[in-house]
Amino acid sequence: MTTDVCVAGGGPAGATVARRLALLGHRVCLVERAPFPRAHVGESLPPSIIPILDATGMRDRVEAAGFLRPDRALIRWGARGGAVRSDANQPGFQVDRDRFDALLLDAARESGVSVLQPTAVVRVAAGPGGCTALLRDRSVVRARFFVDATGRAGVLPRARRRTAPATAALYAYWTAAPLEGSETRVEAGESAWYWGAPLPAGTFNATVFVEARRCRGLTAPARDELYRDLLARSTLLASCLRGRLLGPVRVCDASPFVDEQPVTATTLKTGEAALAIDPLSSQGVQVAMAGAMKAAAVAHTIVHLPNRVDVARRFYSEGIAEASSRHATLSFEAYASAGRGGHGTFWSERTGTGDPEHLTLRRRIAGLPRRVVLSPLARLEPAPMLEGQLIQDGIALRHPRLERAVAFLGGVPIEPLLSAAARPIDSDDLVTRWARHTVPPLGWHILRWLCERGVLESAPTIVDGSAQSGRG
Ligand SMILES: Cc1cc2nc3c(=O)[nH]c(=O)nc-3n(C[C@H](O)[C@H](O)[C@H](O)COP(=O)(O)OP(=O)(O)OC[C@H]3O[C@@H](n4cnc5c(N)ncnc54)[C@H](O)[C@@H]3O)c2cc1C
Repeated sequence: MTTDVCVAGGGPAGATVARRLALLGHRVCLVERAPFPRAHVGESLPPSIIPILDATGMRDRVEAAGFLRPDRALIRWGARGGAVRSDANQPGFQVDRDRFDALLLDAARESGVSVLQPTAVVRVAAGPGGCTALLRDRSVVRARFFVDATGRAGVLPRARRRTAPATAALYAYWTAAPLEGSETRVEAGESAWYWGAPLPAGTFNATVFVEARRCRGLTAPARDELYRDLLARSTLLASCLRGRLLGPVRVCDASPFVDEQPVTATTLKTGEAALAIDPLSSQGVQVAMAGAMKAAAVAHTIVHLPNRVDVARRFYSEGIAEASSRHATLSFEAYASAGRGGHGTFWSERTGTGDPEHLTLRRRIAGLPRRVVLSPLARLEPAPMLEGQLIQDGIALRHPRLERAVAFLGGVPIEPLLSAAARPIDSDDLVTRWARHTVPPLGWHILRWLCERGVLESAPTIVDGSAQSGRG
């Protein structure tokens, strides 16, 4: 087969990137190893996935699919205990991944993607003119561009770096367990953390996240014993043991990592093939889908405009690196907030490896400066950016405390925002000036963001002709 783009993997990332590219007019062939429906971990989708379902045009289908819609979670984590209501005023989803992933893949098919399933990509030969993918059934797909969306399996050569200690997930499905309610359950244990949730099919997934070394080389009975022992120590999930186990106890890798070579002139990695975040956030699926939308723009730019290959590659690599660093920081903070730093290596390793500078950056300041001025360290420079479906050159802010160039804040180009603060200006006046670009509530958020990162600095306040520094 000859096509424009060949995508390997039909999970959330592969289905999303393939559909997007087909809608942009490319001939797309997607190769999926497993026959669908197929089971998969990653069943809890928080409300923050909704904007991504909107952006990918999948919201109506997902809402109509009859998945569970819990609007709160039961949490035992540090000082936080009890039930926590969703902070987004709308519930998330608890999905069976077999149905959820099939729904996304069907949408890709309807948009014109040719799906070859079940067969796997076993090898990819990339040359200057494109790629040749050899499939398990010995057929060959030739394409101008190849996308690796095979999740943790990965089919392209890896350049992965672990961003947190190696973690394994021990999990099993239960039925008839005396657990009431549709809430997700999350708990910090002595040497592990726990996640559990009822699923639309009437089963309950109980997962224990432990240090990977504890699971290495275990026989099936030993794995079963370890799982049951850990489950018995949980407050929120122990009653699973009074239910009936469906199938074996399984183990899978849950370590976060980033691939440091996510894109070349003819290939790209997306979803968990490029970036795996800590499952603690329950945001893997949304990160995979949002990343796949960017991946589609990058592939589209490279295929259409060969003179923009470098700018597109920089955009993509920097985006993956920045997302990895942001999620690593968030996970570090979440583990630290459990307050179990002294409780054995599971917790000390996960709370002792974070970058303290990130933490300081993220700490909220009590009040904003009354008067601000642009930091002399802030520079506006040419940088690659996503505009519409293409990557272009634009103007972006660079600052020593920013991990990557920033071209837009809250959808507003950064240049006019910053030029208004080239001289000291009252914060109120600045936000008023920004009103021609954005609404004031967002303006205050932008101001806070810039101040927290030192892009805007506190400037002396003028009171009766004398200068004073002050916070509003
Ligand atoms: C224990 C655990 C719990 C998690 N919990 C959550 C959660 O609650 N919420 C959440 O949002 N995320 C969660 N995640 C993360 C989530 O599962 C992933 O982020 C998400 O599935 C990534 O999507 P993907 O499309 O990149 O990869 P996948 O979903 O893994 O899809 C990859 C696809 O590629 C196919 N494939 C593999 N190799 C080949 C090949 N050679 N050729 C062709 N096809 C191939 C596979 O069959 C598969 O269908 C969890 C992860 C773990 C490990």
